[in-house]
Amino acid sequence: MKIGVLALQGAVAEHIRMIELAGAEGVAIKTIEQLNDIDGIILPGGESTTIGRLMRTYGFIEPLQEFSQQKKPIFGTCAGLILIAKEISGQDQKHLQLMDITVARNAFGRQRESFETDLVVEGIADDVRAVFIRAPLIEKVGKEVRVLAEYQGQIVAAQQGHLLAASYHPELTDDYRMHAYFIDMVNQK
Ligand code: GLN
Repeated sequence: MKIGVLALQGAVAEHIRMIELAGAEGVAIKTIEQLNDIDGIILPGGESTTIGRLMRTYGFIEPLQEFSQQKKPIFGTCAGLILIAKEISGQDQKHLQLMDITVARNAFGRQRESFETDLVVEGIADDVRAVFIRAPLIEKVGKEVRVLAEYQGQIVAAQQGHLLAASYHPELTDDYRMHAYFIDMVNQK
């Protein structure tokens, strides 16, 4: 089984390392042709406006929307979560618009721009290590979306069928259980 990591900008090598620790093969995805060879894809953290712009430049928008229509699993982390959201608060520019969530960018106050914590993540564990870096949060979820984790009453992880989203960076820790969970979603497909 092969899991891709969209490699236009952001934390790519770190995700590949976690995919391999969790027992699958990780591939850096730089061209749309490569999407045919993978069973699931991670959209990494970075800067969502930059990654969104590069996705348009390299023609990734429609092929990724088709990838999702085929119910192939997609995991968005941090900026990646912003890329798959249907709505972005206070911003007209949207990206892939796959998951029925509204996100707020850079949603944690100044002193909390970056921090690390353990989270209770439903179906995974009650001590999942998470790194938040100028993280977004999920303000609203549609009926089909299951909330997986909250931090101080705010939604920070959710799932809608084959779509998984986390506000934080699970790849900047040594805890690969989020990746193992995603690989299970791909296996069950
Ligand atoms: N603040 C970034 C954005 O809005 C996301 C930060 C991240 O991915 N660590 O795109």
